[in-house]
Amino acid sequence: MTKIAHELAAAIRSIPDYPKPGIIFRDITTLLGDARAFRRAIDELVQPYAGLKIDKIAGMEARGFILGGAVAHQLSAGFAPIRKKGKLPHETVRIAYSLEYGVDEMEIHMDAVKPGEKVILVDDLIATGGTAVGAVQLLRQIGADVVSACFVIDLPELGGRKKLEALGVEVRTLVEFE
Ligand code: AMP
Repeated sequence: MTKIAHELAAAIRSIPDYPKPGIIFRDITTLLGDARAFRRAIDELVQPYAGLKIDKIAGMEARGFILGGAVAHQLSAGFAPIRKKGKLPHETVRIAYSLEYGVDEMEIHMDAVKPGEKVILVDDLIATGGTAVGAVQLLRQIGADVVSACFVIDLPELGGRKKLEALGVEVRTLVEFE
């Protein structure tokens, strides 16, 4: 790991057996609460996209909103929220997706992205990839050109990165945990 990856990893709190026995929850609230680490994380997420014309950042509820909002600001892009079902007030498209610890449904507004717009997906962590694959499918359904997906944390053993790459989406991550 690079020095920055070490610094970011040290700012993330690991909570064993949450929310279920056997899961180590990687809690980024400690990173968000550390001004230097938060800034570093956003700078590192944004850096590969500097100079690209990105129309929108799409972020998954809820930690993807915090990170994605900051990334959108830095890239002068708009923000498209992807939410759990029933939270968005206008016309939506909905998809069922599987999590490392369960199943759920998520939605996006039909008009959150215009056809052909270049979108980067942002979330805190990629595990099995179920959430991110669902999000890419939703975005493509409304015509988005998903150019990349970025995450602070990768759990490579769970294979999410490979699933996204198989869909033709470039994946960037900052820190790996086993
Ligand atoms: P997955 O769909 O399996 O890639 O899971 C990714 C989503 O679930 C992300 O939105 C994460 O915030 C959350 N998540 C899954 N596993 C963990 C974990 N071990 N620690 C923290 N968040 C997790």
